Amino acid sequence: MSATTAANLRHDWTLNEVKALFEQPFNDLLFQAQSVHRAHFDPNRVQVSTLLSIKTGACPEDCKYCPQSGHYNTGLEKEKLLEVQKVLEAAAEAKAIGSTRFCMGAAWKHPSAKDMPYVLKMVEGVKALGLETCMTLGKLDKEQTQALAAAGLDYYNHNLDTSPEFYGNIITTRTYGERLETLAYVRDSGMKICSGGILGMGESLDDRAGLLIQLANLPEHPESVPINMLVKVKGTPLADEQDVDPFDFIRMLAVARIMMPQSHVRLSAGREAMNEQMQALAFFAGANSIFYGEKLLTTANPQANKDMELFARLGIKPEEREEHADEVHQAAIEQALVEQRDSKLFYNAAV
Ligand code: SF4
Repeated sequence: MSATTAANLRHDWTLNEVKALFEQPFNDLLFQAQSVHRAHFDPNRVQVSTLLSIKTGACPEDCKYCPQSGHYNTGLEKEKLLEVQKVLEAAAEAKAIGSTRFCMGAAWKHPSAKDMPYVLKMVEGVKALGLETCMTLGKLDKEQTQALAAAGLDYYNHNLDTSPEFYGNIITTRTYGERLETLAYVRDSGMKICSGGILGMGESLDDRAGLLIQLANLPEHPESVPINMLVKVKGTPLADEQDVDPFDFIRMLAVARIMMPQSHVRLSAGREAMNEQMQALAFFAGANSIFYGEKLLTTANPQANKDMELFARLGIKPEEREEHADEVHQAAIEQALVEQRDSKLFYNAAV
């Protein structure tokens, strides 16, 4: 549905230009973002993904925002890699209530040789259910990336988190360069990239702009750009950070939309802390993807039925998969979503 070809997309953003976008009057920025959004997407469709933690906690990385890091004591119970069968059951339930993409996250520095066969089986199984597949497993080498692509993995999530300048304040166990290298392997393998960052870690406006510049100035824009608001978890070094001004968060979504007009901008972690009005404003600013489920890896996510009620009140419909663009399938999804309002929540991510 895009009117812009890849050749028209920009990959040469400068800091001054991006700061000028941020510094516009709020209404001007939102108008511009919504105009760009309408030129590329149906403004009343939001893509819906479900996220499952397939291996929780005891991560050797030291990301200061993360309750899963083994460096901090957050009281999180660690769990081993989930059995393939359990993952497939969760995926089938996610599909039944209308998710089109199933994301599996493991708290690893990188997948080990021992774990790879299980991970590949998960990808094949979820794919066979007719869902898009996404994984976040940490750093990948070239061979692992190619094996995941061959198994049918559609998306790989690897966030840049923040600007290169601020990054060292947040993570010391993995370099920015390593992250970019993993993203390059993913791109070379033919998989789609999901990469974004987090607001509320003490970063400056320059850092927010710097993150978006890194993403937009990649050789191709990530297909999915998750923008997270820090979920402050007791025991992590960022537990007492100041709240993000909600309007600044909306500005971030709007600028991401303008800079990466064909990407899905995902309203991601932190949605629990946003009221309905703020979420509606986020969709207006160009966010068009959400995680749907009770938990987002290990932090609370708004209940699925609340999401669908909000969608109904705003006249928003879940985006279908391209391969299933027929009316019948869409009707079935929407019916399943309505039925879900009264059923028990399916989501049971490890806590
Ligand atoms: S964000 Fe990912 S890599 Fe960093 S500590 Fe958490 S699970 Fe590990």
